[in-house]
Amino acid sequence: MKAIVVGSGAGGATAARELSLNGFEVEILEAGGEFKPFTRRLSLVEPLRKMGLTRNEKNFSRFIPAYDSVRASQNLVLFRGIATGGSTVLACGNMVRAEHGLKEIGLDLKKEFEELEKLIPIKTFPRERWRPVTGAMYESAQQMGLNPAPTPKAVDSLKCISCGLCELGCSTNARWDSRRFLDDAKNKGAVIHTKSSVKRVLIEKNRVTGVMVGSGSGSKFVEADVVVLAAGGIGTPQILKSSGIPAEDRLWVDIVLTLGGVSEGAKQLKEPPMVWYTKEEDYILSPYIDILSHYLHKPWKNVSIDDRVGLMIKLADEEQGTVYADGSVKKDISLYDKSRLDDALKQAKEIMESAGVSGPFIPGVVNGGHLGGTTPLTKEDVPHMKPSWLPEGLWVADLSLAPRSQGLPTIMLASALALRVSRKIAENL
Ligand SMILES: Cc1cc2nc3c(=O)[nH]c(=O)nc-3n(C[C@H](O)[C@H](O)[C@H](O)COP(=O)(O)OP(=O)(O)OC[C@H]3O[C@@H](n4cnc5c(N)ncnc54)[C@H](O)[C@@H]3O)c2cc1C
Repeated sequence: MKAIVVGSGAGGATAARELSLNGFEVEILEAGGEFKPFTRRLSLVEPLRKMGLTRNEKNFSRFIPAYDSVRASQNLVLFRGIATGGSTVLACGNMVRAEHGLKEIGLDLKKEFEELEKLIPIKTFPRERWRPVTGAMYESAQQMGLNPAPTPKAVDSLKCISCGLCELGCSTNARWDSRRFLDDAKNKGAVIHTKSSVKRVLIEKNRVTGVMVGSGSGSKFVEADVVVLAAGGIGTPQILKSSGIPAEDRLWVDIVLTLGGVSEGAKQLKEPPMVWYTKEEDYILSPYIDILSHYLHKPWKNVSIDDRVGLMIKLADEEQGTVYADGSVKKDISLYDKSRLDDALKQAKEIMESAGVSGPFIPGVVNGGHLGGTTPLTKEDVPHMKPSWLPEGLWVADLSLAPRSQGLPTIMLASALALRVSRKIAENL
């Protein structure tokens, strides 16, 4: 039985691994190339920053080809990884169970989470290696009654050199990413083709027959019995819509906004991002230097990276956004999201001030990198793990299935969903 898995990120790599272990002949089609982390010195980029040449988000892919940005509206930019490992290769390595909206549809992923937690080494990062400013903000949050806790991370602290550049790819292999699941799949015979962008799926008599890869004269048909779309929150609905199959206009992105303050010589970059977090009902606060805003955001230009201090808000946004067949996205920051961001900013400022961080306090670039929601599972879908409108043999196994935004790290959720979907595929056949 041949299965095509489209994408090799959190969902795709998990699905490829599981299907290979279950005896499927697996072919993984990945739009990006082999991932390579950023290994040059950041100081080399600093002169370009001073000249204002790093302000366009599209320039990021010059330094790291895997970094893809999509502008969703004037005030919101989305980031994703297009490479082997998908967005997991750009992740901070935070690994928590995110389950918003699952109980409401009767989906319990406890078993899958437990299994993933056994496969992925997860630990908190040693407190003695936090920067003093990060420890001081932790204590402020504690005094404010916010219950901060060290973040569970898939980062091996013995291999980690505290370069702070997790999101540019881990150059010492200290951080787990989904390429480790890809290796397991390859060991079981799976084959991966990089630079193979899937354009659409082909359907005959309401049954999938395969996919079209590439465009123009270079395009080709790849046949399969089963097609698993795991192209992420933008890629999956884009492929569906290009194939004449609907996807819902319910894109969520977990809006990220970092409040920047100043503390001379804080060197917050010399630790992994987000070593602790506070969990409110629909957002988290976490220490975060925000290199994207450092390079992209003009209002941050006068503070050096050594003196910059950041506290991030990650908010579960309203599920309203559209992905089009050409891959463009339309999503605004709703008034409700804006007002919750403003409240969280006040809280962040209070934590920073009582930790001795000074102003000017300037919010960074509003962005999102947890992309999902366009093929949301409903209560009726859960027994089949498949939205009802998908043709026979066509499955989705990524964050697109999650009906609600999380305001929390989402790798575990995407992987847990993909694990359950893959088992359902094997069971069905
Ligand atoms: C900068 C950043 C930091 C993050 N940090 C964390 C963190 O610390 N912890 C956490 O839990 N989450 C984090 N996330 C979020 C997390 O990485 C994603 O939510 C998760 O990877 C989503 O899994 P996915 O399978 O849905 O999509 P992805 O992992 O994005 O995988 C999609 C895959 O599909 C491929 N693809 C896209 N289109 C096509 C096509 N047409 N044909 C073939 N292949 C295609 C892509 O190249 C990619 O490999 C972060 C995200 C970003 C952007």
